[in-house]
Amino acid sequence: MEVAMKKVIVVGMGFGGVRVVNGLSGKGLDVTVLDRRNFHLFQPLLYQVATAMIDQDSVAYSIRAILRKRKDVRFLMSSVQSIDLTNKRVLTIDGPLDYDYLVLAAGSVTNFFGLDSVQQHAFDLKQLNDAVSLRNHILSVYERAAKETDTKVREALMTFVVVGGGPTGVEFAGSLSELTHHVLTKDFPELHTEKSRIIMLEAMDRLLAPFPPELQQYTLHKLQKMGVEVRLNTAVVGATPDSVQLKDGSEIASHTLFWAAGVKAAPLADALPVEKTRGGRVPVEAELSLKDHPEVFVIGDMAYREQDGVALPGVAQVAMQGGDYVAKAIIARERGQQIAPFRYFNKGSMAVIGRHSAVANTLGGLKLKGFLAWLAWLGLHLFYLIGFRNRVVTLLNWAYEYFRYNRQVRLITSEPPLQEGPPVQENAPPDEAETAEKLRLVG
Ligand SMILES: Cc1cc2nc3c(=O)[nH]c(=O)nc-3n(C[C@H](O)[C@H](O)[C@H](O)COP(=O)(O)OP(=O)(O)OC[C@H]3O[C@@H](n4cnc5c(N)ncnc54)[C@H](O)[C@@H]3O)c2cc1C
Repeated sequence: MEVAMKKVIVVGMGFGGVRVVNGLSGKGLDVTVLDRRNFHLFQPLLYQVATAMIDQDSVAYSIRAILRKRKDVRFLMSSVQSIDLTNKRVLTIDGPLDYDYLVLAAGSVTNFFGLDSVQQHAFDLKQLNDAVSLRNHILSVYERAAKETDTKVREALMTFVVVGGGPTGVEFAGSLSELTHHVLTKDFPELHTEKSRIIMLEAMDRLLAPFPPELQQYTLHKLQKMGVEVRLNTAVVGATPDSVQLKDGSEIASHTLFWAAGVKAAPLADALPVEKTRGGRVPVEAELSLKDHPEVFVIGDMAYREQDGVALPGVAQVAMQGGDYVAKAIIARERGQQIAPFRYFNKGSMAVIGRHSAVANTLGGLKLKGFLAWLAWLGLHLFYLIGFRNRVVTLLNWAYEYFRYNRQVRLITSEPPLQEGPPVQENAPPDEAETAEKLRLVG
């Protein structure tokens, strides 16, 4: 049975948005997708771009290529600024658009918890540019260390502080340890007597908080064995270009601060006149829609929903399942049918620590650690990576790393060299200017 041509606007082509579009395409609806960038980003592998394991092209996929076969879906590369719920209209930087249904899947941004100096000097991983900037920076501090005659400055250049013991912090620290201890030591023979330091700071008393204690312990021991200094119950309160300040008043001399301590809803959430919950997330009803506005859905990292008394986590599976559900909910409404409330099906969670080692808390309470968990992690990430070429290239890079104990992408692509860089040009495009400014400050 054909349904009437209603206008659906989907904001965001991340994990959630892609699923909504897949579910709505071919169902007789007028679907418009908006995203401020022209590619889908596979955030879970950004840390591998930052640590020179895979190139940036492998984790991004053109949205127009995703939609090529979906002739009934229109893509607009644009940014949504505000939403007029009363008149059912979104205001983009390119003008207004009317909707019958609106799906907001704009994701999240890094939460610096109001620590301005940290925000100014830390690196985070949310955008593709962030990962490339971080890789450039890591390799650049080594180049600087190789020329540095002052031992203290050299040590600070080779000290990396990772804040946040969640999956992103753990994965980054493990991969950085392998890059610095096994690859860069060979690239920089002049630094062979020095050991780089990776210091992981976690405000809580354990790593990987949502995982079972035995997997947390395994992760801690594994990281320590890999040379990562893990300091639990340690909070950061500030930063300068060459130091990290801790709550207990002490300081770590370091030119690299990586912040993986939390996320908050994308700024678009502020465009909704509803009271936000923790992390600025938007509370949604059982159908993942706004209270009093059943035609507006919010999914993924932007949304807040509890299930069995616990908040749903900001992970890709929640966004994807939310996207599938909302597509079904819209079609059901158009057909005058009822749909059961959204229920998240937790397939488990994983984190990779390094070569041969990962932890996985899987369906049915099965806990995996070590090689098996690592294999499962590799398979799953390849499966969800969008694009055949991306899968093949990523697999080749992983194989190269595995068999040669080497990293393929050890390139500094920022020009000119950081320490001799000119002041940031006023008319540079915003991303370049921002990156250059950040690198100038930190480097
Ligand atoms: C470094 C890192 C590692 C991670 N690792 C894992 C992992 O291993 N496993 C896991 O399950 N999850 C992981 N996550 C979390 C996972 O990536 C997110 O939960 C997931 O991406 C959320 O999906 P989403 O659809 O809500 O948002 P996203 O995938 O972030 O997509 C949001 C989209 O909205 C667009 N957008 C934002 N604002 C606007 C606007 N105003 N106008 C137009 N478009 C806009 C963005 O450009 C983006 O394309 C990781 C996240 C990060 C940052």
